[in-house]
Order: sequence, then structure tokens, then C-alpha cells
Amino acid sequence: MSANTILNIALAIMVASSLFDAVLNRLNLKHSETPIDHKFSFLYDDEKRKNALDYQRANYKANFLADSISTVITILMLALGGFGIVDDFVRGYFSNEILIGLGFIAIVGLLGSIISLPFTIYSTFVIEAKFGFNKTTVKTFITDKIKGTLIGAIIGAPLFSAIVWIYLQLGSYFWLATWLLMTAFSLFSFAFGTTLILPRFNKLSPLEDGELRTAILDYCKSQGYSVGRLFVMDGSRRSTKANAFFAGIGKSKTIVLYDTLIEKLNIEEVVAVLAHEVGHYKRKHTLAMFVSSILQTLAITALLGWMLNYPEISYALGANVPSFHVAATTFFLLFTPISMILGLANMAISRRNEFDADEYSTSTYPKGVLASALGKISTDALANLNPHPLYVKVHYTHPPVIERLKALQ
Ligand SMILES: [Zn+2]
Repeated sequence: MSANTILNIALAIMVASSLFDAVLNRLNLKHSETPIDHKFSFLYDDEKRKNALDYQRANYKANFLADSISTVITILMLALGGFGIVDDFVRGYFSNEILIGLGFIAIVGLLGSIISLPFTIYSTFVIEAKFGFNKTTVKTFITDKIKGTLIGAIIGAPLFSAIVWIYLQLGSYFWLATWLLMTAFSLFSFAFGTTLILPRFNKLSPLEDGELRTAILDYCKSQGYSVGRLFVMDGSRRSTKANAFFAGIGKSKTIVLYDTLIEKLNIEEVVAVLAHEVGHYKRKHTLAMFVSSILQTLAITALLGWMLNYPEISYALGANVPSFHVAATTFFLLFTPISMILGLANMAISRRNEFDADEYSTSTYPKGVLASALGKISTDALANLNPHPLYVKVHYTHPPVIERLKALQ
């Protein structure tokens, strides 16, 4: 296949996926305006409902603009050989393939951040602030960006260098060695992500002694769940939205409760939410997701390894010298449709796990408590009560709240 054909395919995929997203977002906005199932209309009074719809419209408009601009820029980069220009530019300074690759990624990544920055600022300080969610100060916002970039570089640069090194040394066994490296890396992040990364951004403190702690310990004891690490996180530093999550595998198992969750829910409701998180652990959801992501990585590295045999993949983006970094860029552009299909499967499994964890909570803790907690969290966050079913399939890791409430009844 000629470099030009590959470029045209990449362009077609880019245009088609952007159009698909635009249509889907529009469908979702229209669907959110349809009347709420009367059995659940108690979730929103008229004012809340109006507020929620305004919130969805504001997000829709901002996303539409952000997506359009990033699509146009990517198409221009492709059509005008922009990636090739960046590659040539970096080659003017370095001769080592790993350094050239790092330089290429740094520039493309920086461009991407510059393009998305105005929209992140608008979303945080205009939309989230207008609807009363934002707690992020300008100082926190700036330090978050700096820390995020530094941590990304500290972790990403050695990982990327190792992959390029493997590629240069091993050739045809590249995919297998890269897969092993990625698996070791995911295992490490799964086990230590909440210990090493999360505390750089948030304060995690053990839950203080008191009624809530006693209630939680009693519940965990009744389930034979050794509490392990239970943290309260200062989510209120950035947003009023409430949340909780489970992370880690084996001995590193961790439950994190946002301070906003404890503030908004009563003790029973917090325990019911915690019971849902314990359900993820007891029903081995994290383990299953981990195994499935390792298998997907295997498929991706095998496909990437095969494509790397063809220099046209690099020429397609306007590069004059075939390289790992440009070929991988083309690969991920071409991979978009497959990654969407994988995404559908991952989201479906994730939503099924959420129903399953809800079921665990209600079968081990008084019925009705989780439902009232979910209702409070969702109305408080101005959740979309009527998302479009296709939008849910593509984007939702959690089932829409009404579906969860129906399942709980
Ligand atoms: Zn869950």
C-alpha cells in the first residue's frame, strides 16, 4: 500500500470518527431534553431540572467547539505533513533515535496541551464555576498542570525510551518484549498508583475515629473484608462533586472516599457506597479488568509490531526517515475504529460490574440506602437523567442513575 493511500485512509478515519462524535453528542443533548420517567421525577424539582439541562447545554457547546478545533488541526497536520515537519525539525538537533522520538513526542504533546488549555480553563473556571461545582483555585490549577506534565515526563520518557530501544534491538520480537514491559508497568501502576501518584495531587488521610469509622469497620467485619487501606481524599479542593473508588489488587487494595461524599451523605449512605466498592473487590472486578487490559495490550503490540515492518507507515505522515515514533502515531490514528470497538466492550463490562457491585451492596446492607445515596450524588452533580442509549454504550463506564435505581428496586 502506498504512503499516500495510508494517509487518505487516516484522513477518512479522522473525519468519520469526528462526524460520528458530533452526531452522537447532538443526539445525546436532544435526548437529555426528553421528559423524565415519572417514577423518577422526584429526583429533580423544576429548578434543578432546568439547571441540569443548562449544564448539559453549556458542556455540549464547549465540547463542540473544542472537538471541532482539535479535529481541524489534526486534519491540517495530516494533510500538510505537519508530523513530518516536526520530525525533520527534531532530527536537525539529535541523531539518536530515542532522543529524536522523545523530542517528537514532547513537541506534539506540547502542541496538544496548548490547544486544549483554553477549553480546560473555560470548563473549570466558567462552566463548573457557574453551576457551583468548581473549588479549584488558579494556583491549584497551575500546579496541577505543572505536576501532571512533570510526572508524565518522569514516567513516560523512560518507558518510551525502553520501548524504542527494544524496537531497535529486537526487531521481530519487539511486540512480545514490549507487551511484557507494558504488563510489568501496568502491574506496578495498579499496585502502587494510589500510593505514589494520587498523593502528589491530593491529601489522603485515614478515616478518623468516630461513628462513621465504627459503622464501616462493623460492615467490613460482617463481610470478612479486611479493611486494608481506607482513605478520605480532599476532593473538595477541586470540586463539590462527590465520589468514591476502589483501586489496587491483592495486598494493595484501597478504598478512597471523597470528603465531599462524607459531607453530603449520612452515615448509612456512606457505608452503602463503601459496600459497593467492597463489592468490586469481592466479585473480582478489578482483577478481571486488569487481565482484560493485558490481553488488549497484547493485541495492540502485535498489530503495531506487524505495521512497523512497513516504512510507508512513516512516510504517510510526511516523514523522510522511517521511525518508531512517526509509525506509532500513524498506527494509533488508523487504530481509532478498533479502539472504539474495544471501548464498547470495555464500557459494557464496566457497566455490568457496576450493576453487580450495586447488587452486592444491597444484598449485604439494608435495601434502599444505596438507592438514596445514588439519588443524592446524581442530583447534586446535575447528572443527565436521560442520556441517549448509544451515547451510554460509547461513553458511560457507569450505567445512568435511573437504570441503576430501576435495577435496585
Ligand atoms: Zn463502582
